[in-house]
Amino acid sequence: MQTIPSIAELQARLGDHRAKQQTVGLVPTMGALHEGHASLVRRALEENDIAVVSNFVNPTQFNNPDDLRTYPRDAAADAALLESLGAHYMFAPSVEEMYPQPDTRHFSFPPLDTVMEGANRPGHFNGVCQIVSKLFSIVEADRAYFGEKDYQQLCIVRALARSMGIRTEVVDCPIVREEDGLAKSSRNQLLSPEHRAAASIIHRTLKTAGREFLRRGYDDTRRWVVEQIEAGGLFQVEYFTQADANTLQELVNLERNPEGGITFTCKTGEGIETIQKPYTQGSIMGFIAVQAGPVRLIDNQRF
Ligand code: AMP
Repeated sequence: MQTIPSIAELQARLGDHRAKQQTVGLVPTMGALHEGHASLVRRALEENDIAVVSNFVNPTQFNNPDDLRTYPRDAAADAALLESLGAHYMFAPSVEEMYPQPDTRHFSFPPLDTVMEGANRPGHFNGVCQIVSKLFSIVEADRAYFGEKDYQQLCIVRALARSMGIRTEVVDCPIVREEDGLAKSSRNQLLSPEHRAAASIIHRTLKTAGREFLRRGYDDTRRWVVEQIEAGGLFQVEYFTQADANTLQELVNLERNPEGGITFTCKTGEGIETIQKPYTQGSIMGFIAVQAGPVRLIDNQRF
């Protein structure tokens, strides 16, 4: 495993691999690597000859300066983990290497990026698209691996890849959780012991909501989820949205048809217009953002 800080050097190495007809898998990360990242790296190694893991805390996707300042960084531990996994390269550039000049590009993939994280973290997805598009162009990977932990990001990255007309296939990987169900995240290490001990309520509540939402209905589910998570006084729910898993647009109605089927109605992104679809298991998802003291956590669940 080699750590490479320079774009030119990475491209030279990848050029050698291409000359040998070897395939390349890319795993973009912001470091502070954990089992969630490791699962993406393992998959990249299974499906490609060479795995490149980028490790870069991308400043342009942080809308909160404190979040950027406190974001965990541990390049030595990251390199050790990648070595043990058998990854080939850790691409760890400086900010100057990635942004020799300010990136003034604007990306917009409505309605995917106007809701949830897009609405609550202005500029976040623009920054994500800036860095991911650069990584896509630099690495020209055969496949790139993204976690469903950041499901909205995954949808936007798919749209970005399509818009760039690149050959890189975007591969989605399931959420890896702690034993108590909390979705693994680099930010978990910033939780106070009290918040960490109680944080399993988020996944537990989403799972139950997913099981019960047909019976409870959409409005009751939302009320119940917020109530459960906020009950202990430790967490504030920033949003809880039930949405179409493909369009990410909010569910506004759920109806049992006389023939026994179920139809759901979602917004379309153009305001009050709605669209109706038959419900099948997993076609709706619950998305949540929770403030846990100074730490913001997100999670999602298929409904
Ligand atoms: P990050 O370093 O947080 O930007 O994440 C890098 C990649 O790892 C993203 O595609 C994330 O969705 C993915 N990832 C982060 N946490 C998890 C997790 N718990 N399970 C699966 N994938 C994850």
